[in-house]
Amino acid sequence: MKKRWTDFLYLVTILFFALGFFNILFAWLGFLCMIIPFALLLKNRKKTWCQGYCPRASLFNFLFKGRSLTGKAVPRWLTQGKFKLIFLFYFCINLTVLILSTIMVFKGKNSGMERIRFMMIFQLPWKIPQLIKIEGISRWAVHLSYRIYSMMFTTTTIGLILGFLFKPRTWCTICPVNTISDVILYKRRVS
Ligand code: SF4
Repeated sequence: MKKRWTDFLYLVTILFFALGFFNILFAWLGFLCMIIPFALLLKNRKKTWCQGYCPRASLFNFLFKGRSLTGKAVPRWLTQGKFKLIFLFYFCINLTVLILSTIMVFKGKNSGMERIRFMMIFQLPWKIPQLIKIEGISRWAVHLSYRIYSMMFTTTTIGLILGFLFKPRTWCTICPVNTISDVILYKRRVS
C-alpha cells in the first residue's frame, strides 16, 4: 500500500527526543503538541490531531502495529475512567508545577532542574549530553525545557509500555489531550 506523508510522523517524535541531546531548549517544541490538538479541535470541531496527525500515536503504530505482546483489547481497568482521571490530574499537576517552579527559578528562589525526571519525581541518574552549547541562556529557560522534556518523556514511555503490552495506541485511551478533547466536544454538543 502506498505510504502517505502522515505515515512518517513518528519521525517527528524521534526527532523531538534527539534534539534534546543537541540542546534542551528544543524541548519548547513540545508545547506544540499541547497547543495544536486544541487549535484544530476548536477549528474543525473534531479530533483532527488524534485522528491523523499525532506524531506520538504514529510512533506507537510504527513500533507495535501487529507486534504488541498480547495484541489484546485495551483492558477495562484502563478504559473505565479512573485512569483517565489519574492522568488528567497528573497532567494538570505537572503543568502547575512547571509554571510555578519556572517562576521560582526566574525569581532566583530555586536553582532549577538540569536532569530529566520520570513522573515528576524520579530523576534519571545521567545527564543528557548538550552537543550544541548556547551561551547566556537563562536558568529558568533551561529549567522549563527540562520540565517539558520530562513530561513528554514520561507520557511517551508509558505509552510505549502500554503499546508493547496491549495495542499500539492504548495510551490514547488515557491521554489527557484525548480526555480534555472529549470534554470540550461534549460541552459544545450540549450547549
Ligand atoms: S490521544 Fe494523545 S497520543 Fe493519542 S493521538 Fe491524541 S494526542 Fe496523540
